[in-house]
Amino acid sequence: MSNNNNSRISAMREITHRPVRITKRPEADGVVLPTSSWYGVNTFGIRQMRQKLPKDVYKKLSSSIRLGKKLDSEIAPVVAQVIKEWGISHGVTHFTHWFQPQTGLTAEKHDAFLNFDENHLPIESFTGEQLIQSEPDASSFPSGGLRATWEARGYTAWNPASPVFISETGGVKYLCIPSVFIGYNGEALDEMTPLLRSSDVLSHRAMELLELIGDKGVLRVNTTLGVEQEFFIIDRAHFALRPDLVMGNRSLIGAPPPRGQQLEDHYFGGIPERVQACISEVEQELYKLGVPIVTRHNEVAPSQFEMAPIFEDSDIAVDHNHLVMSVLRKVALRHGLQAIVHEKPFAGVNGSGKHCNWSMSVTSDNELAGTNLLKPGKTPHQNVRFLLFLAAVLKGVHKHAGLLRAGIATSGNEHRLGANEAPPAIISAFLGSGLTQVIEDIAGGKTSPRNAEQAMLKLGVAKLPEVEQDNTDRNRTSPFAFTGAKFEFRAVGGSQSIAFPVMLLQAAVAEAIGEVTDELRKEMKGEASTDDAILKVVRKAFKETSAVRFEGNNYSDEWVVEAARRGLLNLRRTPEALAQLLTDSAKALFKNTHILTEVELESRYHVRLERYVKDILIELHTLQQMVDTQVLPASYAYMGQLSGTAGQGASAGINVQPIVDAANATSKLIATLQKKRAEMAKTIAKAEHMHDDLSAQAVYLTSTGCEIMGEVREACDALELSIADEFWPLPRYREMLFPV
Ligand code: ADP
Ligand code: MG
Repeated sequence: MSNNNNSRISAMREITHRPVRITKRPEADGVVLPTSSWYGVNTFGIRQMRQKLPKDVYKKLSSSIRLGKKLDSEIAPVVAQVIKEWGISHGVTHFTHWFQPQTGLTAEKHDAFLNFDENHLPIESFTGEQLIQSEPDASSFPSGGLRATWEARGYTAWNPASPVFISETGGVKYLCIPSVFIGYNGEALDEMTPLLRSSDVLSHRAMELLELIGDKGVLRVNTTLGVEQEFFIIDRAHFALRPDLVMGNRSLIGAPPPRGQQLEDHYFGGIPERVQACISEVEQELYKLGVPIVTRHNEVAPSQFEMAPIFEDSDIAVDHNHLVMSVLRKVALRHGLQAIVHEKPFAGVNGSGKHCNWSMSVTSDNELAGTNLLKPGKTPHQNVRFLLFLAAVLKGVHKHAGLLRAGIATSGNEHRLGANEAPPAIISAFLGSGLTQVIEDIAGGKTSPRNAEQAMLKLGVAKLPEVEQDNTDRNRTSPFAFTGAKFEFRAVGGSQSIAFPVMLLQAAVAEAIGEVTDELRKEMKGEASTDDAILKVVRKAFKETSAVRFEGNNYSDEWVVEAARRGLLNLRRTPEALAQLLTDSAKALFKNTHILTEVELESRYHVRLERYVKDILIELHTLQQMVDTQVLPASYAYMGQLSGTAGQGASAGINVQPIVDAANATSKLIATLQKKRAEMAKTIAKAEHMHDDLSAQAVYLTSTGCEIMGEVREACDALELSIADEFWPLPRYREMLFPV
């Protein structure tokens, strides 16, 4: 094998010659325009609605959006007409209902505006009916038994809360109508419907509680979400040469480089120029779509980065995170780069998470408008309210920790949870020392419930800086950390659709708010003041949830022991985590909140378990092919070279023993790999035989399947380190992660 046909080396040559692609920023008369002047141009958002819709229609539409109410179907034809004209003026030819089936991705099927009028003349047409509802032949999406393919189709329905937008790709522009995807009897076939239901339930319960404590005139309680997205960016040529990355975005083999992230020099360092150019173009595309990305920086692992938006309404933030992931992938390709959002693309360095910053915010026409319910306030009343909602979140997380764990259970996240610099599989909540002190004083009865006023003073503005200061290393290790005015659910995986974990969190908190409200109502009958009654309820909640609060280092081994002592769940594997979806308490939660019927809940379990099994099987097959077509052939070729050299040397009378020794050592490694490869083939065959028992298959794959993958990897990595560069067909970690 000569250097010239070694794909790895020619990829390097290609990469070192790649130019930086510079994206022009929008300008007028040669002057660069500020972002705010063109932000959201590709969305039919509030600005466009107000400008283009008749006043009464705009009023109806915006109030249904603001209050999460159903759309008045009478206004649909007018809205459709205006959206069509707006789209056509932007060069749009097609429209699609853009929805989120249970694949973790978004789905779309395009239809042209083209139609014919009564004189058979071509016209552009888009009806109110087409805007509101569509019936894709979408029978191939996973439904987890909710809908057999031969049964009635599902349909998609516009979710007007999320702005219609124009997608631009390959010079084509089409209108995307954010939609839900439901069966004929209203069964949720997608990820968005349950999320919207959970937002509604939470809003109702929170409003009830606010009303009870004297906060009147609340129109809705929205949940807010800011999603920090971590990802890797590597060169496209390297990516394309790795079957494992192409098939599943995770490298299944690869020896660790001598320098990984131990120097910690990448974090917050300067972004490499090609990557910077790429991220800037991603941001520009996202701004056009009204996605408010404001932060970008290097992450801890080499070639790892992060982008974060200004928080938004949760339902919209979920759509926007999908756009972030898809625009990132698409634009990176234009730069000859590959963006990877997978939770653990490279073993031995940090994986990528998606920190979901979450809170609750008041919509009203009075002074309560915009109040963040998880932000300590200035007055005693604001602080009792804060404590109440804080208590509800803790109750929800405590009671449904298993469910939250299930929400982040994917094949990718399994490698991340409990691994390098990632939160463990144990769900606990971090509150910071200032707040913990207050909570413990209240729980321990130091602050008498008779003395509510004083207790609240303790939590006054003076305490706030302490809460802020606690943004230290310890909270970085927490899967669910309070960071001043919001909780940060950090254990969520980088590639996940966050609709599901956020829905579970909201369901758990909504239920807890209901419980808190009931308890408070009882207490208020007896107690002198509302504040005293609140303090009693809060005290009980803090006491009862103390097991789930943890301020220490979540990465430590002691925590695993301590958590077990506290009776907290430590569900390391995906199948056992997913089983939490079917516990009695999960079933009761969804029944009581009406967020999912039992059949819908079971379908979530089934879809996810099946996905897990498919992921692992794809990885096993990919690994087997790589061993057979790359690792072993390269090893044989190298052996051939060694023995040829030894033969020539011997006939020239040279001492070839060192070469023979090297060849024997390599031969041994090859024999080990062959043995492991045979075991893996057996494992695959056995797993595939179990196809009619999904849970048995999942259990087998998560244990034996993953173990053999690890052993085969070890054998491959040993060979990688003993075979000459020019024979090794795969880009190495060193080359992929340290851009030239
Ligand atoms: P931190 O330093 O605690 O990570 P940042 O201010 O950098 O906090 O914010 C991180 C993310 O949290 C951002 O996306 C931000 O918009 C989001 N965030 C801030 N406040 C809220 C809130 N009330 N609700 C939801 N997300 C929020
Ligand atoms: Mg953060």
